[in-house]
Amino acid sequence: MIAIKPDRLLADLRALAKFGQYKTGVDRIAFSPQDIEARQWLALRYREAGLEASIDRFGTVYGAAPGVDKAILIGSHTDTVPCGGWLDGAMGVIYGLEIARAAREGGGSAIGVDTVNFQDEEGTYLPCLGSRAMIGAVDEAAIAGAQSTDGRKLTDAIAGAGLTGEPRRLDPRRQVAFLEAHIEQGPRLEHSGNKVAIITGIVGIRRLRVVSEGRADHAGTTPMGMRNDALTPLLRLGTFVADRFTELASSDTVWNIGRIEATPGAANVVPSGAQLSLEFRDPDVDLLSQLEKAVADEIARLNVAGARVTSEMTARLAPTPMDGGIADTFERAARDLKFGYERMPSGAGHDAMFLATKIPSGMIFVPSIGGRSHDIAENTRDEDIVAGCQVMARAAELLVRGRA
Ligand SMILES: [Zn+2]
Repeated sequence: MIAIKPDRLLADLRALAKFGQYKTGVDRIAFSPQDIEARQWLALRYREAGLEASIDRFGTVYGAAPGVDKAILIGSHTDTVPCGGWLDGAMGVIYGLEIARAAREGGGSAIGVDTVNFQDEEGTYLPCLGSRAMIGAVDEAAIAGAQSTDGRKLTDAIAGAGLTGEPRRLDPRRQVAFLEAHIEQGPRLEHSGNKVAIITGIVGIRRLRVVSEGRADHAGTTPMGMRNDALTPLLRLGTFVADRFTELASSDTVWNIGRIEATPGAANVVPSGAQLSLEFRDPDVDLLSQLEKAVADEIARLNVAGARVTSEMTARLAPTPMDGGIADTFERAARDLKFGYERMPSGAGHDAMFLATKIPSGMIFVPSIGGRSHDIAENTRDEDIVAGCQVMARAAELLVRGRA
């Protein structure tokens, strides 16, 4: 029996939020002094819970259940974006602590609960550094080359933190499954009124840079029919995307033209060049390809009509499905506890997408008030924080029993 203690869960979560507290949020970017202090505090908490605690040289904190050779691994990350919220990552880490602690208090079993706090999920230096390192998906060259947007090197950050522990590697013979809880960071649960979302997978992402060439001319003296305006084809492409993607999209598809610019960028000069960025996300790889083809066909059509438009794929991330059996287990846990639930994909990346490539992995979300995240306004009601932990604890218990 894994019976979590709500008051203890909330108290630890609030204690963690003191490290790097910034107004109602937290500023705890990876490898900052407050990040390292939080990790050391957590290691102490793991030890107090009777776990074997370690911190590796990347700052990943691991709490291993003693006396078992198999374990369910539960965790997330405590690094934040600059001036971020108090729950993004932190909540999943404290769920791990509380469930590992409650599992030991419940008398333990042949399969234990291990817990983990990954480093730099937010990508100050290298996105999901901790989880990627744990599955062996980051090499020394990537570490040597990684730096923050303001030019600080990852290797200097590691040296500055004074951490020396051997990188913790995943051992699929021990860690039989990975569970991660996270705040939703969007408005869907609040809108539906459900307590938890069971994550079906993490969406794939495609990002395009579309470039258009034209000719600069005086915008007052050159007749409209004699111009070669680089921007107009991209404006047409933008409205095409708005219309055509709406027709092709699933209920989970999202897209964004986040940047559009004309050069030289003056009111009285016909644009000689223009570019836009288009990003789209969906859990279905075939649908992503269909959207990509629609854009390519439209660009070809614009070029036949006289434009000079080219596109380049700047990011292409495959969707990562979560384990179906674990999703069913979460569903049963939510039903046992009589909490409303729904299934949804995650539109954001998480550490679970790397663990999922090696061991069966699953995620749940709890509601975010107003859908706000990556901001000090980020918050979730206490009762929803507790409910999510109860679902995860129940699921861990079912998994342990099912595998024993
Ligand atoms: Zn996060």
